[in-house]
Amino acid sequence: MKKILIIDDCPTILKAFEIKIVEANKDIQILSASTYSQANELIRQNKNKIYAAIVDLNLPDCKSGKAALLTNSHKIPTIVFTGTDDENLKSLLLKKDILDYIQKDSPDSIQYAIDFITRVIRNNTTTAIIVDDSKLSRQIFKTDLEKLRINVLEACDAQEALDIIKTNEKQISLVLIDYYMPNMDGVQLTKILRKKYKKDTLSIIAISGTEDETVLTKFIKAGANDFLAKPHKFEELNVRIHSNLDILELFQKTKDLANRDFLTGAYNRRYFFETCEAILKKNIKQKSNIALITIDIDNFKTINDNYGHNIGDIAIKEVIIILAKILKPSDLLARFGGEEFCILIEDITLKDAEILFEKIRLNFELNKIKLKEVFLKYTVSLGVAHGKIKNINDALKISDNALYEAKKQGRNRVIVHQV
Ligand code: GH3
Ligand code: MG
Ligand code: MG
Repeated sequence: MKKILIIDDCPTILKAFEIKIVEANKDIQILSASTYSQANELIRQNKNKIYAAIVDLNLPDCKSGKAALLTNSHKIPTIVFTGTDDENLKSLLLKKDILDYIQKDSPDSIQYAIDFITRVIRNNTTTAIIVDDSKLSRQIFKTDLEKLRINVLEACDAQEALDIIKTNEKQISLVLIDYYMPNMDGVQLTKILRKKYKKDTLSIIAISGTEDETVLTKFIKAGANDFLAKPHKFEELNVRIHSNLDILELFQKTKDLANRDFLTGAYNRRYFFETCEAILKKNIKQKSNIALITIDIDNFKTINDNYGHNIGDIAIKEVIIILAKILKPSDLLARFGGEEFCILIEDITLKDAEILFEKIRLNFELNKIKLKEVFLKYTVSLGVAHGKIKNINDALKISDNALYEAKKQGRNRVIVHQV
C-alpha cells in the first residue's frame, strides 16, 4: 500500500484528489492535511513511508513554500500544486528537487497533477538502465530517475548492458544510452537492442553531449525513441521519460485489449491457443509431462438465478483471484467462456498435479465471497488431461470428457485422464 500525502487547505481540492487518485490507482492510501502542522504530524507518524506528495504552497499556518520544503527535507518526491504565480519561488523550489510546479489555473491542472502522480505511482514497477562510461553522468541520470521513483540499473559499456538486459529478472523497459563509449558506441548498441526488443516493449533514449548534430539522426535511425542532450534539465528529462513510458503503456493496453477477457482480465481463448503452440513444441523436445485443466463453476446458473447477473460476474471474477494465489506466473490461465477456464501447466508429474488440483478444489470449497448481507459460496469441478500432450485440441477433448465425468459423479471433484 503506497501512501500519498496531500496538503491543501481547500476541502474541495483535497476531496477531488482523494477520490480521483484512488480511482486511478490500486493499493493507495491517501493522507490528507489542510495545515502545515497537520502535515508535519502525518510525516512524523509515517516516517519514511510516504511515497510522494502533492503540496499547496499557501496554508493557514505557513506561507512561501514552507510545506514543500518540509516534504522535500524528508526526501518525499513532491509535486507543488499552487495558486501562487511567483517565478522566484518557483525557480527556488525547482532547484530544491521538486518534481513539478503546477499552477492551479484551470480544471485541467488538477487532472494534470493526478496524471503526474499516477505516473509516479506506477514508476516503481518500471526498471531503467543507464549505459554510459562516465560514472558521474550515470550518477546524475540515476538521481533524477530515482526522484521519479523509477528503479535504476547501471552499465559502463554496451556489453555489460546487453548482459544485464538479458539476465535481469525484472523486465527492463527503458534504456538511456550514451554515444561515445569504449568498444561499442551507443548507436551500435541501439541497433543490436532493436533487433531483439521492438518499440512496444523497450524505449531507448539517447543521451549525449556531442556537438555533432548527425549523432541524433543516427540514433533515431538505429531505433532510438528520443534524445536528451547533456547536460539535461530535470523538467525535460521528466516530460520525455514520462511521454515515452506513456507510449509503452498504450502499447500494452492495446495488446491487452486483443489478448485478454474484459470481465476478468484473464487471457482469452485466442491468446491461449497461440501461446500453447510454443509451449507444446518445447515440451515435445524435452519429453516432459503437461497438464491441461478445464475448470468450471458448479451450478453457476443458480447463482445467476438467485442473486442476479452482477453477482454472477463477481463469482466469475473470484475464480481468477483464487487461482492467482495458487498458480505460478508461468502457468497459462485463460477464460474460455462463461464460467469455464483452462490452465496449461508445463513439466508437472502426475503426483504433483493431483496435489495441486486438490488444493484448487478445496480452496474454492472453503472460500466465501462477502456480499452485502450474505456470504456466497460455490464449488468447482476440474477435468484434467495429463501426460505427453502433443496436440492441444486432442488434449482439450480429453479434459472436457474428464470434466463431464466430474459433473456426472456429483461435482466438486477432480477427474484426471491420462493422455
Ligand atoms: P454445471 O454445474 O453443470 O456446470 O452447471 P452450470 O449451471 O454451472 O452451467 P450452465 O452451462 O448450465 O450455465 C452457465 C451459465 O452461465 C449460463 C449463462 O447464462 C451464464 N453466463 C455465461 N457467461 C456469463 C457471464 O459473463 N456472466 C454471468 N453472470 N453469467 C454468465
Ligand atoms: Mg561517453
Ligand atoms: Mg458450470
